[in-house]
Amino acid sequence: MDQLNIFNDEVKDTKEHNKEEIKKEIKDLVEKLNYYSHLYYDEDNPQISDYEYDMMNNRLKALEKENPELILSNSPTQHVGGHVKSDFEKVTHEVPLQSLQDVFDFESIYEFDKRVHENGDTNYCVETKIDGLSCALKYEKGILVQGATRGDGNVGEDVTANVLTIKSIPHKLKEPIDITVRGEVFLSSKDFEKLNEEREITGEKLFANARNAAAGSLRQLDSKITASRPLDIYIFNVQKVDNKKFYSHFEELEFLASLGFNVVPFRKLCKNIDEAIDAIKEIGEKRDQLSFGIDGAVIKVDDLELREKMGVTFKFPRWAVAYKYPPEQKETLLKEISLEVGRTGVITPVAILEPVRLAGSTISKTTLHNEDFIKEKGLMIGDRVIIQKQGDVIPEVIGVNKEKRTGNEKEFSMPSTCPVCGAPAIREEGEAALRCTGIECPAKLLQNIYHFASKEGMNIEGLGIKIVEQLIDNNLISNIADIYDLKLEDIKQLKKEGTKFAQNLVNSIEISKNSDLSNLICSFGIRHVGKKQAKILAKKYKTLDNLINASIEDLTSKDGIGDIIAQSIFDFFNDPQSLDLIERLKKAGVNMNSLVEESDDNRFEGKRFVLTGTLQKYSREQAQYIIESFGGKTSSSVSNKTDYVLAGEDAGSKLTKAQELGIAIISEEDFLKMIE
Ligand code: NAD
Repeated sequence: MDQLNIFNDEVKDTKEHNKEEIKKEIKDLVEKLNYYSHLYYDEDNPQISDYEYDMMNNRLKALEKENPELILSNSPTQHVGGHVKSDFEKVTHEVPLQSLQDVFDFESIYEFDKRVHENGDTNYCVETKIDGLSCALKYEKGILVQGATRGDGNVGEDVTANVLTIKSIPHKLKEPIDITVRGEVFLSSKDFEKLNEEREITGEKLFANARNAAAGSLRQLDSKITASRPLDIYIFNVQKVDNKKFYSHFEELEFLASLGFNVVPFRKLCKNIDEAIDAIKEIGEKRDQLSFGIDGAVIKVDDLELREKMGVTFKFPRWAVAYKYPPEQKETLLKEISLEVGRTGVITPVAILEPVRLAGSTISKTTLHNEDFIKEKGLMIGDRVIIQKQGDVIPEVIGVNKEKRTGNEKEFSMPSTCPVCGAPAIREEGEAALRCTGIECPAKLLQNIYHFASKEGMNIEGLGIKIVEQLIDNNLISNIADIYDLKLEDIKQLKKEGTKFAQNLVNSIEISKNSDLSNLICSFGIRHVGKKQAKILAKKYKTLDNLINASIEDLTSKDGIGDIIAQSIFDFFNDPQSLDLIERLKKAGVNMNSLVEESDDNRFEGKRFVLTGTLQKYSREQAQYIIESFGGKTSSSVSNKTDYVLAGEDAGSKLTKAQELGIAIISEEDFLKMIE
């Protein structure tokens, strides 16, 4: 008996132990998924592929299904991803903008068909699942009155001013009806590539994929930026319509086309699930030829009464599923392995590939990370390699087709010296990266200046990598601080760049002097110190001098700054070269203090500002910091709740709207007086 008890106790213990492990795994997955969702939806800056995200999410779903009592309320399975940025006005959707249930194999589609037929018979409508950003458009008497993002499904962001700039969105319909429609805002593959090329030239951060570029473009506080991006839309649903009754979704889509909308282009009415699966396969085969990116195909019940009967869950409709295609792979030639030297001196091997189309874009190079990666994959120059874009982030070499080797392939090994300055290159113990040791390596200088001017740093618009390259090549700069000695004449002489460009760049350089301390700290490119750490440091130390004088103990006393980061900061500020640089920046008039003052001066408390046009003294971000530090708020669109519209040069539709609504309009001069 006792023995049995012991046995039972052991089983119980093991079970409890397992439960504990499962609980921990669920918690870890929820934390990770929420973090990646935040980057994806709220920051438009995904750090992992959709495929990786989906696989993690599937694991969580499986664990939750087995252990429903362990489901956490903040689990991503329990809500629609995405939040509303506080800068935008909120819009409560009359009909929620739900998500879709994902399926990854045809078996799950047959199961879906079974569930449908338990409720009734229907045709299916199969459509391309456009990879963009969901958007609801509201029309009153045929006139566009509101555009809103999905947000959390129930509450979205008011992006009316921005949707008005999208050419394919009709401002007036062919019939004067009251209707709300839903569609996907996207960028064509070609426009996405062009946009990234332009951003590379001007030094702005590249978008990871077309979805993220579309989302980042629509969720802009300045509608002029949205207008400058060639966004497009495909409409795929009637959310709400007055005085019309439809019985079929397909019929609804045809009606939307007749109203003047761009309706989802691949839409096929299928009599049964086998026809629907054929349509999915057809989309899969055509995927590469489409002018826009897709991340799947959607199968929808066509019969609208049956949809009503099947209903919805809190997250998605029961009458539709999204089939996600496995990640696309292509084989191509590894022509060469080149080397790039980064800001911190890391020498990265880069695969130069025979250009190949993959998941909506042309791939001609991709990172090979480091020596270990090349060894692990067994890569040789001249190999036929398989590349894959997992969920459209960065293409990855996933293997070699060794059967196609001819014997002419060449081994590759990392160099012992920096390919740019010739200084010794070393690989420290425990590190995968090879680093250039040259203190004055021009490649590092180029990257350092580029980083200094980047959006996260001093945000000098127009100082992109190509311009920095030209400035260095023309001996106009050889140190970060030289940026502040640049004259209009210096920039004008650069090939192809006109006077207007030079004037704009000089203005941006001038404005950058007023950047917040957090931007300045971030711009130094101190190892392990990104935007997040820079913000923590700026908040704690308030002035650069305080930070320079901080001891390691003091630095580590702050959450988010560990020993390694503290040491790195300490070393940076104890290097005479850094101190020289700081001295020169001070002399140039660069702000060394935090703009976010925690003061008792809440002169803007309860006041809501909208910024429009170009300011001369401050960038928008800087002006926003100032408003917030005085307790005020900023938002992107003008409404009755707006107190002030701060109008700079070339102010557009927001100024007109403010005039119409009788809202106080202030000039930059007025603003400067208000913040004195
Ligand atoms: P979803 O994007 O998989 O599907 C729902 C969306 O599909 C809708 O919002 C709708 O706008 C869109 N859609 C496009 N064409 C459509 C059509 N013809 N009919 C109906 N809808 C159409 O779901 P979700 O909840 O927005 O996002 C989940 C997905 O986002 C995940 O599966 C994952 O791939 C991705 N994600 C990735 C990361 C990452 O870090 N990479 C993070 C979070 C989410």
